[in-house]
Amino acid sequence: MQRKRKPRPSSEQSPSGGAPGQCHCLIYHPQTPDERQQVRDKLAYARRIGDYVGIQLALAQLAGPCPAWEHK
Ligand SMILES: [Zn+2]
Repeated sequence: MQRKRKPRPSSEQSPSGGAPGQCHCLIYHPQTPDERQQVRDKLAYARRIGDYVGIQLALAQLAGPCPAWEHK
């Protein structure tokens, strides 16, 4: 049996029209100001309801480091 690595389908996180960078990290890092704002909203909400996992996840998304950010 031979295992082949398939490229990830790019349809999930790519709005047509040229994304600035593509994040392939385990944790998705926001690539646009819009996306960053969404993560901030998520962080604020997680804080409000005391969702510590959500807080850590959102912080990790905002803080990086992300290889895609270096190609701007
Ligand atoms: Zn990333």
